[in-house]
Amino acid sequence: MSKLVAPHGGKGLVCCLLHGNDLEAEIEKAAGLKKVQISPRAKGDLIMMGIGGFSPLDGFMTKADWKGVCENYTMADGTFWPVPITLDVSAADAADINEGDEIALEHEGTVFATMKVSEKAEMTDVDKKWECEKVFKGKGEESADDVFWKIAMEDHPGVQMVMAQKEYNLAGPVKVLSEGEYPEEYKGIYLTPAEVRTMFEERGWSDVAALQLRNPMHRSHEFLAKIAIEVCDGVLIHSLIGNLKPGDIPADVRVKAIECLVDNYFVKDNVIQAGYPLDMRYAGPREGLLHATFRQNYGVSKMIIGRDHAGVGDFYGLFDAQDIFDEIPTSDDPGKSLLCQPLKIDWTFYCHKCDGMASLRTCNHGKDDRVILSGTKLRKALSEGAEVVDHFGRDEVLVILREYYAGLTEKVEVKMQSHAGGDTMK
Ligand SMILES: [Zn+2]
Repeated sequence: MSKLVAPHGGKGLVCCLLHGNDLEAEIEKAAGLKKVQISPRAKGDLIMMGIGGFSPLDGFMTKADWKGVCENYTMADGTFWPVPITLDVSAADAADINEGDEIALEHEGTVFATMKVSEKAEMTDVDKKWECEKVFKGKGEESADDVFWKIAMEDHPGVQMVMAQKEYNLAGPVKVLSEGEYPEEYKGIYLTPAEVRTMFEERGWSDVAALQLRNPMHRSHEFLAKIAIEVCDGVLIHSLIGNLKPGDIPADVRVKAIECLVDNYFVKDNVIQAGYPLDMRYAGPREGLLHATFRQNYGVSKMIIGRDHAGVGDFYGLFDAQDIFDEIPTSDDPGKSLLCQPLKIDWTFYCHKCDGMASLRTCNHGKDDRVILSGTKLRKALSEGAEVVDHFGRDEVLVILREYYAGLTEKVEVKMQSHAGGDTMK
């Protein structure tokens, strides 16, 4: 019996990826099916369904699931889920598709899955706006009622993504046929939930924390991971290797930087680095919940949630992603509840007076004594070739990042958040 936390949903790992003869037969069948072009986001969702990362989902959500998830984090059968996982298609495509049809889902020339359509539902602009308000609106100043829609279409990539979705959603179970470029391009980093669970078990771990990363790891992330190592059996440094927004540092550079940091500053036996194939949804606190939900499938029992986790601009309060874990519904059925717990850590930084890393809970000094670390600030400095203040990142890591920026031909604009510079620190 595994001592690791059970996969979400109470059904074990639900993996929709076919293998061997089943896979060959399905690929052959898919060639004769109507092809629908899908977004990069849907591709990532399918791969997660393929490898069990989205257990218990075995396909895209129905309108009832969508509604329940938006309204109360709950699918129609009562299972917790934090953000809609839906598949949008154009009205033209939808006109040729009926409930009960089998279709092939294609992205950039690769058929990623077949799907048996169980429902075709129109998604009006009113529906999409409602989804945005439920999923993306937070407690930050940019989410205020009189501000949100004035700026969200310009400044919130999650809102942009949902509003750009096509006119219909298709629901139904999928058979996944490909993991795309990930197994080749991210060999040793792209690991399935089953593989990660096996690694945890081999090390005798039962209580494992995950550190979510989409930026290079700097001192503050290193500190979070080390706090987790002190209180858990080990830490999974888990990077997004799906698509990011322009200006973000590509996954291969981040992976190299993390490797360098782990080699130089960690006890290797207590850390595993891996990557997952999803795109960011930029859903702030709800994204924090999604991070915990799919991490549970990887065998992770504690999700590290620090300051402004998965934040976007100033749409969210700095600790909303921690608080939301106390606001979500729970069920008497553990299979239907989120079991992965947050490991809440306060705002962390290097403090000159403390002479080390500290947090708002441990350091009694002032703002001027602290080096406020933020990925946004770091990227801005690096993209402009500016000096990075001491204690911001490890020298070995900065060398790798500088190399990357020096090789860029186009300048990268990095929009600053008001709290990235510590201005909102009390
Ligand atoms: Zn201090």
